[in-house]
Amino acid sequence: MRVYLQSCLAINPFKVYPFLDFKLLCGLIVFCFLVSCDGGKQVPVFDGNSAYEYLKKQCEFGARIPGSSAHEQCQKFLADELKKYGGLTFLQGFKEVLPRGEQPVELTNIVGSFYPEKTNRVLLCAHWDSRPWADQDSLAANHESHVMGANDGASGVAVLLEVARHLQQFEPAYGIDIVFFDAEDSGINGKNETYAIGSSYFAENKDSGYLPQFGILLDMVGDKDLQIYQEINSLKYAPQIVKKVWGRANDLGLSAFHAEPRFEVTDDHVPLNNAGIPCIDLIDFDYRYWHTTQDTPDKCSAESLQQVGQLILSIIYDK
Ligand SMILES: [Zn+2]
Repeated sequence: MRVYLQSCLAINPFKVYPFLDFKLLCGLIVFCFLVSCDGGKQVPVFDGNSAYEYLKKQCEFGARIPGSSAHEQCQKFLADELKKYGGLTFLQGFKEVLPRGEQPVELTNIVGSFYPEKTNRVLLCAHWDSRPWADQDSLAANHESHVMGANDGASGVAVLLEVARHLQQFEPAYGIDIVFFDAEDSGINGKNETYAIGSSYFAENKDSGYLPQFGILLDMVGDKDLQIYQEINSLKYAPQIVKKVWGRANDLGLSAFHAEPRFEVTDDHVPLNNAGIPCIDLIDFDYRYWHTTQDTPDKCSAESLQQVGQLILSIIYDK
């Protein structure tokens, strides 16, 4: 991969623009780094720090538990951000009784379509809800407490909001649909069918003509010690996409990605695959704070989000 910086530095900025001070020079270098070229394809550089701010912002609302005011406020924020970046925004609302609930609650999948005129489309998705019970916490007293979901929920959404910001600035190779699924994580431990409520609703109600080329689900991609192995259901349903994505991670030298299978995870990609959308799950399931009260922003890092975000940008800007 050739970096555009080389050609920029061929011009001596101090000579050509003697008024440039150090800060301006730094700005110029950052600008030059913004676009890297590979065979003429331009790939923007992902900003992990900006994504990390998005992760923290979601957590500042509180745990996004369906039916809570934090959930309601965060929903508005996410839809507004997608709209701000030029996404054609659609809220898919529905009501359902959650597995441990008694009354139906309002649930919402948040959809932002970018470049809707493009027929060749890619679906990028994550769940935006938090788990209502920290049932994996080491303290039994915490088992009914909520999970903040900094990594389990907010990390994937954070990467995709930052991707959306780039979509407004540079036209990608595909039309992109970003979907934030609700109620992925209100399931009962051990009962896989009680999870992924929002994505199941989306898959069951999608237009039969809506068939993006492929989908990529991001879940738990912010762990400071990020290690993403190939997920087994993804290999079963969409091996060619797994191959493509890990091949690109290798080309980019992303140390968090390991080209070997590890966990089998029932996640939002399963209903999508069952509805005919080949979709893979990028997930680091080896996260010690999973479904505990300790899943907070300090366990996540901008560097981890950066690796995942750069990979996504590379895939959607340079087929
Ligand atoms: Zn979870």
